[in-house]
Amino acid sequence: MKVFARLLALLVLLLAAVPGHAALPSPAPGRLSVYFLDVGQGDAALIVSPTGKTVLIDGGPPEAGARLAARLRELVKGPLDLVILTHPHLDHLGGLRAAVKAVGAKRFMDPGFDHPSEAYRDLLDFVGHEVGQVMSPEPNPQAPQTLLTVGLGEGVALTVLWPRVPQESFLANTRSDPNANSIVTKLTYGKTAFLFTGDSEPPTEEVLLQKPVDLTATVLKVAHHGGKHSSTAAFLERVKPQAAVISCGVGNDYGHPSPEVLGRLRDVRARAFRTDQDGEVLAVSDGTTVTLRSTKGGAGATSLSGTQQAGSPVALGPIQPTPHGRSGRSTEKEPEPGAPRTRTPVEPPAPASASEATGERYVSLKGSKVFHRESCKTLKRSKNERTVYTSRADALRERRPAEDCHP
Ligand SMILES: [Zn+2]
Ligand SMILES: [Zn+2]
Repeated sequence: MKVFARLLALLVLLLAAVPGHAALPSPAPGRLSVYFLDVGQGDAALIVSPTGKTVLIDGGPPEAGARLAARLRELVKGPLDLVILTHPHLDHLGGLRAAVKAVGAKRFMDPGFDHPSEAYRDLLDFVGHEVGQVMSPEPNPQAPQTLLTVGLGEGVALTVLWPRVPQESFLANTRSDPNANSIVTKLTYGKTAFLFTGDSEPPTEEVLLQKPVDLTATVLKVAHHGGKHSSTAAFLERVKPQAAVISCGVGNDYGHPSPEVLGRLRDVRARAFRTDQDGEVLAVSDGTTVTLRSTKGGAGATSLSGTQQAGSPVALGPIQPTPHGRSGRSTEKEPEPGAPRTRTPVEPPAPASASEATGERYVSLKGSKVFHRESCKTLKRSKNERTVYTSRADALRERRPAEDCHP
């Protein structure tokens, strides 16, 4: 028995020493880390910002739940700041319950696109009880052109590009309307950017191409596991990804990724990573360069420099606040009839720090008649919901200055 245990230990050591099975490092403080988790046929990506803010985008299929939960326990300290379900399909929502049970979550966002599946209803029921805030990515009605942006500290921002309900209706009559209305987000840090596309469809890509939005991204999470309809040539030419990550299962029944998409990625000279072949993929950005590694892809790391032109995206909201925009302002929404959820105000989980905006921002806590400087210590102590004003004039219209920080 002892010999067997020894042998086993030796085997474990050997396995650990084999290059290509190297465990990926923990999130590095001061860097932006994006883990494309290996969940088989499905999607799950974890963002850890330089200040430790965490966002989980999708949770893989149900059978990946236990593995996802274990991995999140290794990578995340404390509850997730935000969980995004890009759309209500089982290969994206199946593991979310296990994930939230494992580490907790403060906020949950999904497109609000109705989908009559039992698994989705059950998940909404679960997050309604277990997650503090359930929200949809609606733009602020006061500034409908300003995209909803979630500040993650240190100039890192996650901007929702689609859907844009109620300003624009959900896409309809597509190959799959739940897919077509996937939440599409762009994560920006310095000159580097990541684009998360869920299972978006060609009509989603067309809508995005028509918008005055900078779509360029250093790393693209390829839509729909590399399915052949999505990732059109026109879209890829605009995104100009240097690396593309395809999340799919070994020998999956769908033939994902399709040779067509792999070809189109080659055409734009994007280096493709696949979770079925490479295992978990980690991309780390220092704001200038993104370095990618994977568990099975050998010990070597790939470094890419950011593509984003400085001063590009006017439409990217709070990175360059519009003078009259009040980003992240609370908007109450009526609960949908029959929906087992209460929608709470749409607002960024963590207001962007003042350093990333050109002007100082002002914040008031729910139920309070005063507003504070964003840097005020009172705000840090409170977990209450908050309203963010991008100008003092906007704040003064509704509240009076607080006595502690004299904004
Ligand atoms: Zn889907
Ligand atoms: Zn999917």
